[in-house]
Amino acid sequence: MKKKISIAIDGPSAAGKSTIAKMVAKKENFIYIDTGAMYRSVAFYCIKNHIDLNDEQAVEQAISNIQIRLTADNKVYLNDEDVSLQIRTDEVSLGASCVSKYQAVRTFLVDEQRKMAETGNVILDGRDIGTVVLPHADLKIYQIASVETRAKRRYKERGLEADLETIKKEIEQRDYQDMHRAISPLKKADDAIELDTSNMTLEEVVDQVLTLINKTREE
Ligand code: C5P
Repeated sequence: MKKKISIAIDGPSAAGKSTIAKMVAKKENFIYIDTGAMYRSVAFYCIKNHIDLNDEQAVEQAISNIQIRLTADNKVYLNDEDVSLQIRTDEVSLGASCVSKYQAVRTFLVDEQRKMAETGNVILDGRDIGTVVLPHADLKIYQIASVETRAKRRYKERGLEADLETIKKEIEQRDYQDMHRAISPLKKADDAIELDTSNMTLEEVVDQVLTLINKTREE
């Protein structure tokens, strides 16, 4: 029988972590946990309920009214409402990056993430998985790509309405916020393997991750 393993994929915004994690999870029959979706759900709840994202106390109070559920088919439920699409706007992206700096938000979500991660073979993606959520993960990957590459990928996904420069600025802003916050900033864990995907196709990245998983299993 294959050994149960946990995989942490961290890295900056729009580096393709969730796409890779989903593809790998499907191939290997792992449970995929999109931790960014959880921070997005908190931000979405606050925006929807006119709670000022810069008011730490108000956001902290809101947490007790929030329940987040991630399903096997990658849907995100906030208090039993499917918010999978609504949490993907630029406003929510920046909002998530804002609320994610608050200790109470992180404690709440990290707790939930650890509980979910106990359920079996798991792959989590985020900013602090290898450093905080699962410091003993069997395999840690730090996935990066140049800002240009990341912005172009997002631009392609968005289609005609998008503006490349705006997307680039938003990515840079989130990188800065996520790397410079006081609590659990985005950084590579000492034992993480860095994967620069700037010049790689999706298939190449997936193959590389699968090779790393097989190596981990053999250890
Ligand atoms: O990964 P995604 O872009 O969906 O994450 C949205 C935001 O949530 C990030 O910019 C970051 O501020 C926050 N986040 C975090 N820790 C995680 C996952 C996401 O702080 N583990």
